[in-house]
Amino acid sequence: DTRTGAGAGNDTGDHAGDHVGNDGGQRRWRAAMMNNYGTPQLTLVRGEGAHVWDADGNRYLDLLSGIAVNALGHGHPAVVAAVTDQLGRLGHVSNFFVAEPTLELAETLLDLAGLHGEAKVLFCNSGAEAVEAAFKIARRTGRPKVVAAEGGFHGRTMGALALTGQPAKRAPFEPLTPGVVHVPYGDADALESVVDGETAAVVLEPVQGENGVLVPPDGYLQRAREITSRHGALLVLDEVQTGIGRTGTWFAFQHAGIVPDVITLAKGIGGGLPLGVCVGVGRAGELLEPGQHGTTFGGNPVCCAAGLAVLRTIRDEGLLDHVSRLGKEIANGVEELGHPLVAGVRGVGLLLGVMLRHPVSAAVAAHARKAGYLLNNVQPDALRLAPPLVLTEADVHQFLADLPAVLDAALPSSSSEATS
Ligand code: PMP
Repeated sequence: DTRTGAGAGNDTGDHAGDHVGNDGGQRRWRAAMMNNYGTPQLTLVRGEGAHVWDADGNRYLDLLSGIAVNALGHGHPAVVAAVTDQLGRLGHVSNFFVAEPTLELAETLLDLAGLHGEAKVLFCNSGAEAVEAAFKIARRTGRPKVVAAEGGFHGRTMGALALTGQPAKRAPFEPLTPGVVHVPYGDADALESVVDGETAAVVLEPVQGENGVLVPPDGYLQRAREITSRHGALLVLDEVQTGIGRTGTWFAFQHAGIVPDVITLAKGIGGGLPLGVCVGVGRAGELLEPGQHGTTFGGNPVCCAAGLAVLRTIRDEGLLDHVSRLGKEIANGVEELGHPLVAGVRGVGLLLGVMLRHPVSAAVAAHARKAGYLLNNVQPDALRLAPPLVLTEADVHQFLADLPAVLDAALPSSSSEATS
């Protein structure tokens, strides 16, 4: 993920304005932690529902939720109870064995995807790992080529990075895993021109989250499905960011009415615990043979118990409809502000990008923080909102009421003169 708030990406970390709490957090951070994320903006100490508190006691509405992770917000009683109970009962077993919550989560996921009896689940610990598993499944087809999209993001491990279509993230680590071809995102004709009988898989995000919440044109995923099927290639949909209710359906592919061959999940499913999933549909669920892949913590019963609590709560509390409704309310509300800095809003459900007319997203994020909101400047000219699915109507109204002043404060001076 990109953590690029004001101050992030600063290699010295010594400029005024950064704030890691009044407990010397920044000094301790500089002394003890690798600077792979840039200077942290805050030291957070507590969360409840859609809110978090920093080390100074300031409260923030978390419109980022750990970057699309805390689907049920912070400290949700169902997750806390499930995790506590499972940790007290059985905290871990090796993959020589299997635990009850692990089996139950696999079954529940397949039920929700409408794939029970047709697909198989592999558990791991993160989005990148889920993508690595998908990549290995693709290799097991015996075909050399994998097609992915420019601008796409699939993780930071070497295989996932090879699929990631963002040159700046790839360049420092070349040579990467060979065989990957990138094509423009959202362009089905580009897929048509490269997918052939040598193609093992096409790997796509249903919405490109890290690339500024880029939604492909209608019909794109359907065409990708048709092209891959015709050539006997796997369609891998990376739903690490879009899955588990974030777009108002359990999986984003359900909007398109298609079924992929491989689905990768992480982020939202673990309710804040590290949990990744690779789902293989049909033959894709059979390609890995015993001994060919694995990870010590994959299927950890505590993480799986958290995952079950997340899925059951989303289902029992009707959160999918809530997500669709609030997503539209935020998108319409931001557009109706008619603010000169806002070029438009894009996204689906509670994965939204606010497009700016100037590359001042870091300033907007910094002013938002001062006003009590955490959001992400995912691109210089785009903000990302990925709030907990349990965000309330009242939270949305307050945010929409406070947003104009936040945007005003970040307007480049020439434009603010023009509008004042
Ligand atoms: N795939 C997608 C679509 C993602 O958005 C991300 C994380 N932003 C990843 C993979 C990597 O997940 P993780 O950070 O858990 O490795």
